[in-house]
Amino acid sequence: MRTDIGQVFKLEDYRPSDYFIPETKLTFRLSPEKTMVVALLTLERRDGVDVSAPLVLAGDGPMRLVRVEVDGKALSPEDYEATPDSLTLAKLPAARRFTLLMETQLAPSQNETLMGLYRSSGVYCTQCEAEGFRRIVYFLDRPDILSVYTVRIEALKSEAPLLLSNGNPVESGKLEGGRHYAVWHDPFPKPSYLFALVAGDLGRITDSFTTMSGKKVDLGIYVEHGKEKLAHYAMDALKRSMKWDEETFGCEYDLDVFNIVAVSDFNMGAMENKGLNIFNDKYVLADRETATDADFANIEAIIAHEYFHNWTGNRITCRDWFQLCLKEGLTVFRDHEFSADQRSRPVKRIAEVRTLRAHQFPEDQGPLAHPVRPRRYREINNFYTATVYEKGSEVVRMIRTILGAETFRQGMDLYFLRHDGEAATIEDFIRVFEDVSGRDLSQFALWYHQAGTPNVTVGSSHNPATQEFTLEIEQSVPPTPSESRKRLMHIPLAFGLVGRNGKDLVYSNAEGASVENGVIHIRKRRHTVRFSGITERPAISLNRGFSAPLTLAVEQSADDKFFLAGNDSDEFSRWQAFNTLLTDALIDAFRQILGGKKPIFVARLTSLAGKIAGDETLEPAYRALALMLPSEADIARDIGKNIDPDAIFAGREALAVAIAKENQAVFTHLYETLQDRGEFSPNAKDAGRRALRNMLLDYLCLLPGGAKLTLRHFHDATNMTDRAAALTMLAHRHHGSPEAIEALGAFETRYASDPLVMDKWFQIQASVPGPQTVESVRALTSHPAFSMTNPNRLRSLVGTFSAANQTGFHRPDGEGYRLFVETVLDVEKRNPQMASRLATALRSWRSLEPVRQAKAREALLAMANTENLSADLRDIIERTLA
Ligand SMILES: [Zn+2]
Repeated sequence: MRTDIGQVFKLEDYRPSDYFIPETKLTFRLSPEKTMVVALLTLERRDGVDVSAPLVLAGDGPMRLVRVEVDGKALSPEDYEATPDSLTLAKLPAARRFTLLMETQLAPSQNETLMGLYRSSGVYCTQCEAEGFRRIVYFLDRPDILSVYTVRIEALKSEAPLLLSNGNPVESGKLEGGRHYAVWHDPFPKPSYLFALVAGDLGRITDSFTTMSGKKVDLGIYVEHGKEKLAHYAMDALKRSMKWDEETFGCEYDLDVFNIVAVSDFNMGAMENKGLNIFNDKYVLADRETATDADFANIEAIIAHEYFHNWTGNRITCRDWFQLCLKEGLTVFRDHEFSADQRSRPVKRIAEVRTLRAHQFPEDQGPLAHPVRPRRYREINNFYTATVYEKGSEVVRMIRTILGAETFRQGMDLYFLRHDGEAATIEDFIRVFEDVSGRDLSQFALWYHQAGTPNVTVGSSHNPATQEFTLEIEQSVPPTPSESRKRLMHIPLAFGLVGRNGKDLVYSNAEGASVENGVIHIRKRRHTVRFSGITERPAISLNRGFSAPLTLAVEQSADDKFFLAGNDSDEFSRWQAFNTLLTDALIDAFRQILGGKKPIFVARLTSLAGKIAGDETLEPAYRALALMLPSEADIARDIGKNIDPDAIFAGREALAVAIAKENQAVFTHLYETLQDRGEFSPNAKDAGRRALRNMLLDYLCLLPGGAKLTLRHFHDATNMTDRAAALTMLAHRHHGSPEAIEALGAFETRYASDPLVMDKWFQIQASVPGPQTVESVRALTSHPAFSMTNPNRLRSLVGTFSAANQTGFHRPDGEGYRLFVETVLDVEKRNPQMASRLATALRSWRSLEPVRQAKAREALLAMANTENLSADLRDIIERTLA
């Protein structure tokens, strides 16, 4: 484990390497306790670099250096300096090109960090992004060192009949002593973080895909024996992704084979290693019995995401880790577009925005705020954040909004043409769009460089005499850590002026800002935008389709909000209008409860929920999302300070009950008509129907008889979506009832031997609201299906409890934090990366009310004062406390 040495990496310090590695030949002799790695590197000195320049290779972890040779001659230990972190060679041949051979020894079975080469359920696998390759052999382990890899793997055939690496298979054969070998060659130069190796005994399903130029690609998905039938949905998603990327971006697959391997111990979702994607099995395995519709949608999205990296990430990679968003933000944008095309565009957009607000906004508004392209980091593993991924995707979306779809595509084409085979930067990316459009995007580029969520406030007035409608728009960006003064942003604000008939009014002229194709371009602090030819006072619909990731405060009457919630032609904004009404009511309820009063909700609001539920012109999936109340965390974020999670929870429950009572008849009728008929399909239409039906039940379960109705739903369920939804309602809303106990027991018995499904069981219990959940989570850590070393188990139980249980985790006596600190410090000893991810759960501690805030601070200090913390965890804790 690397402990913190306080080193800060800065973007401005970037220098090209003095040496390159055009060719890398690796030989692995695999064995659980003693794996030998021989690396033969062809090195090349950069032009103009002096012969005396030392070669400094990065290393990490407990690897043993056995021998070093330069140009075939063995070096004695005084010819080089080897530490756990680096290998330095001072005296090198005068020739520009020379070879370096290193042999290292590793113990994969003892590697619990899940970085570098490790074993998961008896399978050898690797994870090298961001800096895991240096745990295998000393290397110039930085993304701008592109090398052509040839990999030979040797292992006992009985232990590892399957030997996989990047690229195309070259040869394989038998060796003595029951061993065998395989050689793989990847002709595309790639950075070390994309290296991968898998060896073990796995089952597989195969298929093939013919690319647009007629090349046949062999596809394989490898899973634990017996689980093959659960991989068919992933294979289908892969083929659809390959086709979509050809049609939408002209991107064709380049190797002869494409393999996906599912492993059960994995720190992340999945990894896009060239030609050999490695997945957390959670994002591969699915059928109706074990996976919810959300799981199916996630699998589809993540399979696509990793596949799309082949062009955005692999063929064009990042110059350095500051440019992480170059591959991630762009690829998230691409997978969002894919899902929108496969499913429903407005539904997908609403879901994306909910995710962005839930994960990225708190980051941007708290101590861990950083720009989409950070300028400094202490531990790069801590920058795989919602800001880099989700906000990074929003920035790409804004480029498309500003340029239009056609010019955007031209820019992407130019990007692929100009930078293929390179390690590029955000500047390179922006330049292609400037070049194809002739526009200056320098002010827009601040979205990459400046942290914080911009606030936009809007007032309006209508003058019937002059038929002029005026918008007063003002932007500001709040200060964030180490950025107190902010520059003004270029914000593309999509809008509509909605007339009384629900249609957008047509204006004859707009002045005060550039307004084009339904978008107001805000570039200054204040704009007074005048629309002429407006005969009636419109309701303003702003930030349509969530055209920019900002917080918006519009001076608007309740009448206008209700009008938009029922009539806006932009489906996203229509959802937003209703969601804003719900949020307003929930914030008001919070205040009433703190003041000792019982919250009251207007019938106009609760009955609108019934109207939306029954509106056949809207897709069921859309109606389900509209009826989903803002989460407790959403409400807390909108309130901003002095948060008492118990009062928020009470207000939210009260609104849910009020909606359920008001609409009991409508909801019951719909619940019955939406019942499952015919064969199961995970397609968007059926999933939408199930989502709406379960959402209705979520209300009905609050009424008398609700527990019985929900238990029946649980027992009648023919798929995991319905079963898990009913179990959640019983566990959360009827906690401790005979119905809840029965359902939890039945679920446990049915799935005891399926770890991925048991994760749902842990998750549901970890998120039960109320103070008692601390004790039940503590008890569940000794459940036989739980494991402190498996990231999926940890995320399901402790991750869910700390990140998604507002009332339980923030218990006023600090017991939730105590359990959390114990777990994080325990996990930290084995898997620092996992520990630091968990630790971000306290990032919004300053918005809590004083009692909880003091307890949270104590918890953070307890972690900060622990000796020998890893670089990963110390970085998060210190920034959270700063
Ligand atoms: Zn990615």
